[in-house]
Amino acid sequence: MERSAWIDDELALLGDQVARFLAREFVSAAERWSQQGFVDRSAWWKAGENGLLCASIPAAYGGGDGHWGHEAVIAQEVARAGLNGGFGIGNMVSSGIVAHYILAYGSEAQKQRWLPAMARGELIGAVAMSEPSAGSDLKAIKTAARKAGGHYLVNGAKTFVSNGQQADLVIVAAKTDPAAGRKGFSLLVLETRNAAGFQRGRALEKIGLHAQDTSELFFDDVRIPAENLLGPEEGCGFAQLTEQLAWERLSIALVCVAEMERAVEITAAYAQDRSLFGGKLFDLQNTQFKLAECKTLAAVARSFVDGAMVAQLGGTLAPDRAAMAKWWASDSLGKVVDDCLQLHGGYGYMTEYPIARMWADARIARIYGGSNETMKSIIAKAMQTPGGNGGGSRA
Ligand SMILES: Cc1cc2nc3c(=O)[nH]c(=O)nc-3n(C[C@H](O)[C@H](O)[C@H](O)COP(=O)(O)OP(=O)(O)OC[C@H]3O[C@@H](n4cnc5c(N)ncnc54)[C@H](O)[C@@H]3O)c2cc1C
Repeated sequence: MERSAWIDDELALLGDQVARFLAREFVSAAERWSQQGFVDRSAWWKAGENGLLCASIPAAYGGGDGHWGHEAVIAQEVARAGLNGGFGIGNMVSSGIVAHYILAYGSEAQKQRWLPAMARGELIGAVAMSEPSAGSDLKAIKTAARKAGGHYLVNGAKTFVSNGQQADLVIVAAKTDPAAGRKGFSLLVLETRNAAGFQRGRALEKIGLHAQDTSELFFDDVRIPAENLLGPEEGCGFAQLTEQLAWERLSIALVCVAEMERAVEITAAYAQDRSLFGGKLFDLQNTQFKLAECKTLAAVARSFVDGAMVAQLGGTLAPDRAAMAKWWASDSLGKVVDDCLQLHGGYGYMTEYPIARMWADARIARIYGGSNETMKSIIAKAMQTPGGNGGGSRA
């Protein structure tokens, strides 16, 4: 496969090392993680020891001292190893999102307290935005944080929280001033160990991503120290969320492309092996046309997403471009895994075949990180505003 323009020799070497590490240490555990519904804690420690966590966080805070390219290479290799539906999403949330909220908006003391432990895998991070009655419409969240002396008292409920069962640090989006609209949002970091009034709901049962612990979280007068606000002051939460969402969307798109490439590779190999009508499945013109279409979808998405990645590395990725990458790549992935499953016949419906898992895992990419309808709203909004790029809103 042609090397992406944003991958230099150092990143290519990292990709090889990560692929070898995953094959040696994680791949054989993947089925057990799917059965138990979460990735072993010891795997997080191992990932930390081997540089897979917080790769883009400065060494001064215990990270790998890399940049978004390091994060992206790791995410792609994890997807290629078939581990996106557990460790991959977990790490993208913890290292790629939570650590970056802390790096961008945390005080020096917060960074020193949390980031080195996250890089070692001792603290797993989660982001709790969505609520039972507010997903796309984030402004409608009800979770409230009321200042009481040196603490905030937090009340409310969150749902669909990735890493929710295991998280040691949860960034909670809450209203600190319900009357102030967007300016009334704040982000608070809950340290979950021994947090009175904090409860994890059941691990949600999903059609895919079986090794990912996705949960409801409940807050009943939970005391979060005032110094755990991601500052510099109350009311910055909405702007902070929207600033970080472009990377979240691009990282989803990157993984979708890696998944498409994997699906095509697996299916081409299967079709060359499977015998029917005295020949091979691959010999049929329909198989060839379908695989050609799938490979083209993957290649077109790769080209656009790589361009967005170059913009991200240069600090110029606009929200509408990230939204295009996310909806296009996840929509294309849906088509590719469906066609690839069809080419496997009945075996494609059997969970022991990787394509079956990939098909189920892929469905969420059109929904989370902001649904694809939300992505189109962002793109349309940018067209309405002369010179606009869709910044400043989730929806
Ligand atoms: C496995 C999984 C992991 C997740 N991880 C996290 C996490 O870690 N943290 C977190 O906070 N959230 C997480 N989410 C939540 C996810 O981001 C939301 O599910 C998503 O934003 C959609 O919100 P909703 O489910 O409430 O759907 P709704 O907002 O109720 O949307 C319902 C439908 O309406 C459509 N719609 C919405 N707005 C518009 C519009 N303006 N125009 C047209 N149609 C529209 C949507 O696209 C969707 O089809 C996760 C979800 C899942 C399933």
